[in-house]
Amino acid sequence: MSELNVVELYKSLHAMAELSRVEFKTTEFLKDHMTRLGYKIGCGFGPNNTGFIAEIEGCEPGPTLLLRADIDALPFTVNGEKVAIHACGHDSHASIVLAAASRLNQSIKRGKLKVLFQPAEETLAGALDVLEKGVTDDCDIGLSLHNRPIQDCADGKMAAAVNFSSCTVLCAEVTGRSCHASRPHLGINCAEMLVAICQNISMLKFDPTKTWSCKVTNITVGTEVYNNVPNNGKAFFDVRAESNPLMAEIIEKVTNVIETTAAMYGGTGKLVYTREVVPAPDYDPELVEEIADYIKEVVGEENYQPVCYGGGEDFFFYKKHKPDMRVAYFGVGAGCAPGLHDQNMKLNPESLQNGVEVVVKFVKNHLG
Ligand SMILES: [Zn+2]
Ligand SMILES: [Zn+2]
Repeated sequence: MSELNVVELYKSLHAMAELSRVEFKTTEFLKDHMTRLGYKIGCGFGPNNTGFIAEIEGCEPGPTLLLRADIDALPFTVNGEKVAIHACGHDSHASIVLAAASRLNQSIKRGKLKVLFQPAEETLAGALDVLEKGVTDDCDIGLSLHNRPIQDCADGKMAAAVNFSSCTVLCAEVTGRSCHASRPHLGINCAEMLVAICQNISMLKFDPTKTWSCKVTNITVGTEVYNNVPNNGKAFFDVRAESNPLMAEIIEKVTNVIETTAAMYGGTGKLVYTREVVPAPDYDPELVEEIADYIKEVVGEENYQPVCYGGGEDFFFYKKHKPDMRVAYFGVGAGCAPGLHDQNMKLNPESLQNGVEVVVKFVKNHLG
């Protein structure tokens, strides 16, 4: 089978956008191509068995390399209708990886290439679904990529690393005592307690040279009765931190504020995790250097960026699960505008070829 054209792949995948964990047509499309390219198809993931892993092995011993693309789209309402749109460009990632796979199937001489089409990145559940199957446990090297919005990386440029952060949503759950609002001294007011908790959290101090944020994003208290003192409440905090140790420090201090502030009011407060904390990247400097060299070869020194900004990414669960896996993750500038997660997001599929070239060079260097 001849090399696949990344622009054609992108157009096909873009037209079949599907939400997290229901990427059925996308999975079939990718599987069909990978089978014809000679890859051995492995299992799917999550409750609906979407996405899959495929592999191809060389004759000589060598490392096992994980090449991962996410495949899910985002939900929007357009003209009153619920639709899935590839507003984060995961269709472009799957296209880059599939096009690269079509050039690598004859080139793997050492070790093993594992190509992972991962479902459900947007809900941050996909990598955890994959980890349950243990298919990445033998991987020594991990590579992934994301198209970047024009604010981070202009069309035709590429970044050797993406500065993702650790992120999570924490919930402060408080309990007090209700009473008639005319006799507030008989109650323990959860609304007041949560206001104090929010203020105390906003006064927490962390190393100002490091990047982090912790802000309240939702507060619910009691019931829809406004003349009594509420005896329960919840506040949610979106938290970001540039490193895993800093995230741990924030969580420790936030926990302390919730417990001590609630106790000061005579109530109880506890921190509840809404989901597992998404880890920050922990890149292998040598691999990042290697990617930087390939970017310069493909798009020229003038279009090379050492890093660009990023949000959160569930790819780093693989590294957290297997700390000795060396990982790299690069950014592809393809004119993505107005921005990621915008339902009108458009990108220039011609620029995706740059991503294909970098992936091919990287895999051939380690397994060719
Ligand atoms: Zn996204
Ligand atoms: Zn994304």
